[in-house]
Amino acid sequence: SQYTTARIRSEFLEFFRGKGHEIVPSAPLVPANDPTLLFTNSGMVQFKDVFLGAEKRANPRAADVQRCLRAGGKHNDLDSVGYTARHHTFFEMLGNWSFGDYFKKEAIAWAWELLTGVWKLPPERLLATVYHTDDEAYAIWRDQVGLPGDRIIRIGDNKGAPFASDNFWQMADTGPCGPCTEIFYDHGPGYAGGPPGSPDEDGDRFIEIWNLVFMQFDRQPDGTLVPLPAPCVDTGMGLERLAAVLQGVHSNYEIDLFQALIGEAAALTGTRDLQNKSLRVIADHIRACSFLVVDGVLPSNEGRGYVLRRIIRRALRHGWMLGTREPFFHRLVATLSALMGEAYPELPAKQELVEKALLAEEERFAETLDAGMRIFDDIVERSGGKVIPGADAFRLYDTYGFPLDLTQDIARERGMEVDTAGFDAAMEKQRETARAAGKFGGGVQLPADLVAQLQPTAFLGYDRLQAEGLSVLA
Ligand code: ATP
Ligand code: MG
Ligand code: MG
Ligand code: MG
Repeated sequence: SQYTTARIRSEFLEFFRGKGHEIVPSAPLVPANDPTLLFTNSGMVQFKDVFLGAEKRANPRAADVQRCLRAGGKHNDLDSVGYTARHHTFFEMLGNWSFGDYFKKEAIAWAWELLTGVWKLPPERLLATVYHTDDEAYAIWRDQVGLPGDRIIRIGDNKGAPFASDNFWQMADTGPCGPCTEIFYDHGPGYAGGPPGSPDEDGDRFIEIWNLVFMQFDRQPDGTLVPLPAPCVDTGMGLERLAAVLQGVHSNYEIDLFQALIGEAAALTGTRDLQNKSLRVIADHIRACSFLVVDGVLPSNEGRGYVLRRIIRRALRHGWMLGTREPFFHRLVATLSALMGEAYPELPAKQELVEKALLAEEERFAETLDAGMRIFDDIVERSGGKVIPGADAFRLYDTYGFPLDLTQDIARERGMEVDTAGFDAAMEKQRETARAAGKFGGGVQLPADLVAQLQPTAFLGYDRLQAEGLSVLA
């Protein structure tokens, strides 16, 4: 299609440059100075201090394309990958910001202008949600934009309902936050699901494409909301979801970039059915894993490194399901680099490092994956097909290198659950024994020259690398 992801990125930035915004590069997936956050999960992360008033920018307007990861912490979409048309672990967020400059009126007007004026989306396909008490945003949509009242939906907090839409945005349990208005695209009655706020809103018919957050508060550890020095605007639009809309397809996995990755994954695994869910998961995970390594994370047994290890192993298990018994995952890096290298030059620059890190993990897991999968079948048979006992899940973890979430993922496919309390108990017992014996978990062994490539990046302190368990590499 003519609306390639490359074109969308540049048209988005051009539009906001034309509105006086400074174009800012994407920050890494590992937040620079924020120990409260595992990964950059939205565009606002690199501007947190600006919102809080601790940092000033020369231009109060900015726009960027931010790489994001939602695979841990408050925002975790790992378990949605392969199940919905719209969720990835790694994705790109198009964003525009006002740091105490413009507010609701301009933010909404420009979003509408870009979607319906520049990109010519049919207005009748678009809906907006507003925070239930935000009469100001409601009035802007109705009176200024002219959206009919039945397509402006008031939404509350929905605390405790993880999949329910929520029009109060926060990056984490503390920090900048505020009410938001979100723009949804209706893919049409051919798809299942209801509009936002309805009981079946989690379907994939009405897809949320753009969130405009009116950043007004700094949430304190005790939950109170302290007003920010100046109200700000923080918007985020998923590039892949928008690309699906502009390319006239429904699922993110049908867009140009994913089709190329899926095609290559199919070739490498000898899979004929391009609709196979495992291909989608692999295509998603290669992006997350490659960019994590680019941003200084290596597979390890704790912290960010363990999230990476978990994502890699989930991908490898899907390769195994497709019948692949040779290392294949690292071979997708070249394709990814060709697809995304222009937008993210750090990827081709570190391609060799990424390939080696992934290959090392593939070789490591290959030693136990096959046996682990056979053990899994035995467990299913013994357990009667309902619950995987905690002790068995722990054996898969401890002896076969199956992270708990991998075992849960396999169990879910078979309509089973894992006794996680039993797993935790077995883990705790093991920890005590290990503590007594002074054992350590190992990281991936990589040649020193490759490891050295990780060190000089400005955003990573050596201390943090050590904290990630990378000291074992020395
Ligand atoms: P959803 O309700 O669909 O899970 P969200 O409300 O969690 O999305 P936001 O936190 O508001 O998403 O993020 C802003 C935008 O980023 C979304 O409107 C969407 O376009 C995009 N986005 C969010 N999560 C993902 C994801 N996991 N994969 C791809 N795009 C995403
Ligand atoms: Mg979400
Ligand atoms: Mg949402
Ligand atoms: Mg949202």
